[in-house]
Amino acid sequence: MLYLTALFLLTLILQVYVLRLLRINFNKADTKLKQLTRKHANLFKKNAALKSENAVLGKSTEEIIQIYEVTKNICKSLDEEQVFNSFREDVSRFIKLDDCKFLSAGEDTSRYDKENVLPINIDDSLVGYLAAINLRADEREEFFILGGQFKLGIERAILYKKVQELAITDGLTQLLSRRYFLEKFAEEIERSQKFGLSFAFLMIDLDNFKSFNDRYGHLVGDALLREVANGIKENIRQIDFICRYGGEEIALVLAETNQEHARLAAERIRRSIESKNINIYDEVLKITISIGMSNFPDGKADAKSLIEKADKALYKAKQSGRNKVCF
Ligand code: GH3
Ligand code: MG
Ligand code: MG
Repeated sequence: MLYLTALFLLTLILQVYVLRLLRINFNKADTKLKQLTRKHANLFKKNAALKSENAVLGKSTEEIIQIYEVTKNICKSLDEEQVFNSFREDVSRFIKLDDCKFLSAGEDTSRYDKENVLPINIDDSLVGYLAAINLRADEREEFFILGGQFKLGIERAILYKKVQELAITDGLTQLLSRRYFLEKFAEEIERSQKFGLSFAFLMIDLDNFKSFNDRYGHLVGDALLREVANGIKENIRQIDFICRYGGEEIALVLAETNQEHARLAAERIRRSIESKNINIYDEVLKITISIGMSNFPDGKADAKSLIEKADKALYKAKQSGRNKVCF
């Protein structure tokens, strides 16, 4: 009996001990669970914060890429029109709008939503406006940021034009600049008047030049223009002078030359370009030129009227089928 009672007591003690042990472990597990739950909640919060930070970073990365793309493409050109065309193309890829326009400073902007019009000021003077059509309000800020890059591109183009105007030679063709040519032209008129000399003024324009740009790209177009300029230069004398008058227009003075000789010289120049095989990169190209000519002395003898007459003759050459000399 005593033995049984002792066994019972021992079992009871053991049970109590096991139960205590289980309770302690349960409490420990519960505390741990609570700790883990807290940790999980914290991690969850951190994750959400990181996610939203990531979204913000993603958006600004996207913006940086857009600015980079727009700037990179704008920098390819120093021509205002081309700068705008490149901007317009890129902006329509990145921003939801119907179109955008580059308006000149004097243009009426009232038909555009004034919230969507960005004035382009350079050195405190207004050079134009950038207007977005049907731009969403939440895209406005982005449009204006990209517009800032457009402004820089236009600034570069305007600066380049100014430098070109000031320079004596044209960077692409190495012909005289228009400004310098016009100074020399005025001197030539004076000199010819004084000594009773005659001369001819030729306005030369490349035929269908735009189609070469469209087909082969501007780099090839530039090289072609340079080759034509060189080709003409090879056919003139030291006393003659030649300039790049405009985009693909070349002006030439054949000094001390009467009308008949000038006509022959112009024909020779036209033919030499016509017969040239021009190698550019891997292409062999052929191009023609049209020439309008005026002569000194002939009636009103100032620079303006000589240029106007040559221009009219050039128009006639274009109208009558191109690759011609008219006067
Ligand atoms: P037309 O025979 O009537 O003269 O036709 P065209 O295509 O030559 O004349 P248009 O006036 O339509 O186009 C002139 C082209 O010349 C458009 C312009 O992009 C291009 N141009 C002007 N300056 C440059 C230049 O410096 N480099 C290149 N690559 N193209 C130029
Ligand atoms: Mg032309
Ligand atoms: Mg032209």
